[in-house]
Amino acid sequence: MTIKEALKEASLILKNPKEASILLRHLLDYDQVQLLLNEQKPFEKYNPYQTLIKRRLSHEPIEYITEKVSFYSREFFIKQGALIPRPETEILVDYALEIKPQSVAEIGTGSGIISIMLALLIDNIKITATDISKEALEIAKINAEKFKVSDKITFVHTNYLDDIYDEFDMIISNPPYIAEGFELEENLSHEPQNALFGGKVGDEMLKEIVDIWIQRKCSYLLCEMGYDQKESMSRYLNKFNLKFYKDLAGFNRGFIAKRGF
Ligand code: GLN
Repeated sequence: MTIKEALKEASLILKNPKEASILLRHLLDYDQVQLLLNEQKPFEKYNPYQTLIKRRLSHEPIEYITEKVSFYSREFFIKQGALIPRPETEILVDYALEIKPQSVAEIGTGSGIISIMLALLIDNIKITATDISKEALEIAKINAEKFKVSDKITFVHTNYLDDIYDEFDMIISNPPYIAEGFELEENLSHEPQNALFGGKVGDEMLKEIVDIWIQRKCSYLLCEMGYDQKESMSRYLNKFNLKFYKDLAGFNRGFIAKRGF
């Protein structure tokens, strides 16, 4: 069987030629051009390819299988144990970049994407990034090394900002904000559930983060949130300057709160 024939077969099994090609290129460590140049060669990795196809058929996200995910036009390392970065979180990063904070605390850093992008794009920034998952922090540290920003980010294994007493210009977070019991697509069952579910109502962790921000006397709070949480968050933050933003699909997706100066 040639490489081309293997690709054709996998495309039919997966009913998705694009994913069949991504998995094949991952297995052979080929880019698109190398795949084209070598497609008539005999295919020697039939069994390993079948294993990847089976993983995808069982709804494991392609990002976990290839251990790669694109965020903010960079390629980050990802594997099971951290939430797969979503494109809408790029908007949260954009708003943080506009403010250009010098000291930031990120709550729930996951794979580290938010802190790493801020470290890459803001000179002299100092970031403390926390997570309750040791596995996620290991992934974040690998990404920080990859992008050579480890000197700008201190990763801490803790709940919220427990035991951290520094002052920050900004607290940023994409916390778990889905309500418990909400029926999710099958792909999401492979992601850490404690990175997705925020409590019975969904906004409990967001409110906890707001409380922490208020206590800390920090200037800015930037959070991603669920499409249906604008009303509850605007009530909870009514004493502050507040701006909500939408994602590319037009859903409410987050807010920027600022202390009146
Ligand atoms: N900060 C990470 C992200 O935005 C992880 C978020 C999370 O685990 N809830 O992808």
